[in-house]
Amino acid sequence: MAGVWDPFALVRAQMVEEQLERRGITDVRVLGAMRKVPRHLFVEEALRGRAYGDHPLPIGEEQTISQPYIVALMTQLLELSGREKALEVGTGSGYQTAVLAELARRVCSVERLPRLAERARALLEQLGYTNVWIRVGSGTLGWPDEAPFDRILVTAGGPAVPPPLFQQLAEGGRMVVPIGDPANQVLTLVEKVGGEMKTRECGECKFVKLVGKYAWEM
Ligand code: SAH
Repeated sequence: MAGVWDPFALVRAQMVEEQLERRGITDVRVLGAMRKVPRHLFVEEALRGRAYGDHPLPIGEEQTISQPYIVALMTQLLELSGREKALEVGTGSGYQTAVLAELARRVCSVERLPRLAERARALLEQLGYTNVWIRVGSGTLGWPDEAPFDRILVTAGGPAVPPPLFQQLAEGGRMVVPIGDPANQVLTLVEKVGGEMKTRECGECKFVKLVGKYAWEM
């Protein structure tokens, strides 16, 4: 994208300042990534003018791209340095995947809906990301062949931490997952310390349903 004029650069910088910095997002790498990733390309053309608004947006198949602040908050909680191998469950539009790809060494992302996975894969490739792998599958099972993961991010809400995901989290690793009922969840930070699960609640959130063997039924 370097050298190409981006009509959304200014509104994106405003989003970062007004919605993220003012609400306490301080990780400069997260702020930098969100100033860079062209969020408007991850929504359909008719919604591009609203892509930088302070809200989620529909992406088809009854799914949504998360609100910018929630993307920033979850990413900041992961504390990425650039060396990590990360797993994302719920690729959706691929926007969060791109933010992770800016900040981690390698990103594996699982999406259950083939149409969304294909669209995200094509866009991320077009944008030049070479450290992203997207697979269609049931994300509550994780990605055993690629485990362990230093970081895991679940971008749909489930009733509890899916056991396979905790198993696939590396020692000392961090996972962020919305836990609760289908209407409301608590953003939960899970750490693996000496093989044990340590959790911290990090605020309320509202995600689409995590569907699968270790989550909600369809
Ligand atoms: N991070 C995405 C959020 C998309 S919404 C974005 O910003 O665009 C959550 C996504 O999780 C949906 O695309 C939904 O299909 C997917 N999902 C739900 N349950 C899943 C599961 N068990 N495995 C993989 N993907 C799942």
